[in-house]
Amino acid sequence: MPLKELFEKDWQELESEGVLFSSLEKLVAWGRSNSLWPATFGLACCAIEMMSSTDGRNDLARFGSEVFRASPRQADVMIVAGRLSKKMAPVMRRVYDQMPDPKWVISMGACASSGGMFNNYAIVQNVDSVVPVDIFVPGCPPRPEALIYAVMQLQKKVRGEAFDGLGQQLPMVDAWTR
Ligand code: SF4
Repeated sequence: MPLKELFEKDWQELESEGVLFSSLEKLVAWGRSNSLWPATFGLACCAIEMMSSTDGRNDLARFGSEVFRASPRQADVMIVAGRLSKKMAPVMRRVYDQMPDPKWVISMGACASSGGMFNNYAIVQNVDSVVPVDIFVPGCPPRPEALIYAVMQLQKKVRGEAFDGLGQQLPMVDAWTR
C-alpha cells in the first residue's frame, strides 16, 4: 500500500483491508508471551511429566516454551516440578534470583504446591514460601496437558488478559523491564 494512502484513510478502513494497529507495549508482550523459556528445574516424579510436555505427542513447542534452558540467565519461567526439600530450597531461590526480570514461576503438582503426601519436616509445604508462584498446577502428577494449560494461563497473564480472584484485570507486564 502506498504511504500516501495510509495517511489518507481512517483506521477502521485500513483494518478492514487487513492493516493491524497495536501499541508497541502490546507487541512486546505478545512476543514475550509466545517465547516463555523455562529454566530446567525438575525435582521429582513430576519432572517426567514436564519432560513429556515437549515430546511429539504433546508438543509444548506450539506455544513457544519448549526451549528449556540450563542457564537461569536465559530463562523466563521456573517450573517447580516435584517436591522441594528444605535443603534444596536455598539452591532453588538462588537459581530464581539469577533469572532476569520479568520472570514467573509455575508450581507443578501437589507436592510443590502443598507438600502433597510428604507432610514431614524435610519438605517445603508450599514453594510459594520460597519463590513467588504465579500459577499452581494441581494433580499427582499433573499430566503434560495440565502443564501446557498452565503455560497458556501464564501467557494470558503476560499479555494483561488475566484476572485476579476479585475479578480485577491484571496489568500487562511492563515492556521495558528487561
Ligand atoms: S505430586 Fe506426585 S508425581 Fe509430583 S512429585 Fe509429588 S508424588 Fe511425585
